[in-house]
Amino acid sequence: MRRLKRPDLPKSERRYLEGRQSSVDTKQALGALDIEKEWKSARQTKTLKSVLAVLQKMMGKRERCMYCVDSHGADIEHFRPKARYPQHAFQWANLLLCCTECGRLKGSQFPMLGDQPLLIDPCAEDPWLHLDFDPDTGNLTARFDIRANDWSTKGSKTVEVFMLDQREAVAAGYQAGFRRLSAVVRSALAKDVINEQALFDELNQADDHGLLGWCFGRTGQTIAPFSDLFQRHPAAWAFCSKAL
Ligand SMILES: [Zn+2]
Repeated sequence: MRRLKRPDLPKSERRYLEGRQSSVDTKQALGALDIEKEWKSARQTKTLKSVLAVLQKMMGKRERCMYCVDSHGADIEHFRPKARYPQHAFQWANLLLCCTECGRLKGSQFPMLGDQPLLIDPCAEDPWLHLDFDPDTGNLTARFDIRANDWSTKGSKTVEVFMLDQREAVAAGYQAGFRRLSAVVRSALAKDVINEQALFDELNQADDHGLLGWCFGRTGQTIAPFSDLFQRHPAAWAFCSKAL
């Protein structure tokens, strides 16, 4: 998963979503809301196509899904399902990009702990606070939270719902991504002097799956060749870590 920064929507798209949301809120108050119908009619508009394009642009040239960050993100996804949370159906902050498989696996699931969602919203927080990566299998797993002395509940639920530890194609994608990042670091380590900015740019370009957040996090520090970079070139390490 990748930590994402949500851009502002262009004014016309923002106003359109606000208008649709206000209409949904009114209909809901009157007990006359058919949210599926509302979304279906809006989804066919040029404005929603342009909203989809903004989400796809956030995920680079390959327009990857925001949950698995491996398959193509084909459709607009409601982080809070629209059937249960119609008050968020047209809110920009609730819209993500999702592949067919992640959409199918999530369905209408939205586990909560009190008022806290138990799925990771990559636009709202750093997924690597909750997730870990296993370079040997390519799987994503829940991160062990030392303070709580337990696995991250949010990480566990996210892995469970999207089956991020059981999808072979996704795991192969992450492993290939990790190999590319490792190759960039190894080639930098072979040089006498490391150009920090050039190293970071090259890593960033090779990072299809958002793994840099893990590589330069606490667990990644202990895994070669990132551990070598950390020990032998602490300034380059700090530069990349800060630039992320
Ligand atoms: Zn996906």
